[in-house]
Amino acid sequence: MTRAAEIDPTAETILPDPPMFDPDAWRLTDKEATLTARARALGAGTFAARAPEWDREATFPTENYLDLHREGFLAVCIPEAQGGLGADYRAYMLTAAEFGRYCGATALTWNMHVCSTLWTGPLADDLDMSPEEREAHEARRAGHYRRIVEDGAIYSQPFSEGGAAAAGAAPFSTRAERVPGGWRINGKKIFASLSGHADCYGILCGEIRPGERASRRDTMYVAVPANAEGVKVVGDWDPLGMRGTVSRTLIFEDVFVPEEAALMPRGVYHQAATRWPHMFMTLSPTYVGIAQAACDFTVRYLRGEIPGLPPVKRRMYPTKQLAVAEMRVKLEQMKALWFQAISEARPDPHKEQILRAYAAQHVAMETSNDLCRLAIRTCGGQSMLKSLPLERLYRDSRCGSLMLPWTAEICLDRIGREALYEPGETDD
Ligand SMILES: Cc1cc2nc3c(=O)[nH]c(=O)nc-3n(C[C@H](O)[C@H](O)[C@H](O)COP(=O)(O)OP(=O)(O)OC[C@H]3O[C@@H](n4cnc5c(N)ncnc54)[C@H](O)[C@@H]3O)c2cc1C
Repeated sequence: MTRAAEIDPTAETILPDPPMFDPDAWRLTDKEATLTARARALGAGTFAARAPEWDREATFPTENYLDLHREGFLAVCIPEAQGGLGADYRAYMLTAAEFGRYCGATALTWNMHVCSTLWTGPLADDLDMSPEEREAHEARRAGHYRRIVEDGAIYSQPFSEGGAAAAGAAPFSTRAERVPGGWRINGKKIFASLSGHADCYGILCGEIRPGERASRRDTMYVAVPANAEGVKVVGDWDPLGMRGTVSRTLIFEDVFVPEEAALMPRGVYHQAATRWPHMFMTLSPTYVGIAQAACDFTVRYLRGEIPGLPPVKRRMYPTKQLAVAEMRVKLEQMKALWFQAISEARPDPHKEQILRAYAAQHVAMETSNDLCRLAIRTCGGQSMLKSLPLERLYRDSRCGSLMLPWTAEICLDRIGREALYEPGETDD
């Protein structure tokens, strides 16, 4: 593979980046401070240099995943007692933002992987299960965790089907049917990031129950081994941005999975979606990181400090100073709201907290692209060249507001409705 210095002249400048969320200023825990510092070192020192290649070739960042495994980050949300780093929700979100700053495709796909442990771990611990269900759940997840810690197994999170299910508006059409010893799965998932590269696809599907209508309450969350008979990866992946996610289409044809494949007992995913709504913000740190990267680049560029480019300063023009000020204001607004929202993530948040979470998600996704747009306008023509990272940041950032279930559109839709109507209220 091509090395950093040949393809990304910013690689050298990235090393001294200050923290996105300074541990003292934002009162981070010791674990958050340590994990974010380690992510920044790995991102700046290694991932930033590789990012152009994944983007150019639309290939999966396999080398980064070997590093993530080596450094324990595949197990970031697995309890320390089980060999992981023991991060909770906020520690994960802050760490992911630092990765997003250096490689969007790695941070976004890492999110899909980490959710298979965050949702089955710290989130599931907050939800109701019978003692028997919990015992079985803990035994099953221990098996998944062992594979991640010991073998570096990679999980993905293909939910989207092209209909209303991933938006939470309809049951999933991928179906699981009870058969002796396990389940038989049939269906299709589109935009399946990590397809062809994950070891297990953590899919959401509905259970077929004879004589009963499909219900979102029955949603199952199941890990399908990539090498199971009947699993196919089809189609190509040649998108505008996030090209390293390799989000192709997955087909499941009479795929048998054993009981232990269940990542959560039936019904617990639906409980999580309704009682732990901040779970759907986990895609946002990637884009918060991209926003920070656009601002970092702009300041360096205007100071004439980009290695590989002539040291031409552009900072003395009032228009540039004004643009940088405008970007800084937007960045601070986004970070403050986002930090507040991720700090109040918990089971059964109250209405104000849910509205704030929608707002934070909307602002993160939209501001990320807005800051990249402003960065290109401010830095000027040369900043669009593919030899510099800005145009990639711009393309990657464009994908954020499209991500279900909390697209920018859906966030606005819910804020408007839920701010004006209490549950059950109508105008009749
Ligand atoms: C780079 C990238 C990586 C991705 N990776 C993954 C992945 O790993 N796993 C995964 O599951 N998905 C992934 N996605 C898919 C993403 O989350 C969305 O599902 C996808 O972008 C939806 O596109 P669409 O055109 O099918 O649907 P859209 O038309 O955007 O929406 C899909 C459906 O949701 C419903 N819907 C849309 N808007 C609303 C609304 N305002 N109110 C109510 N319902 C609404 C509609 O029924 C619609 O048919 C990825 C997308 C991108 C761009």
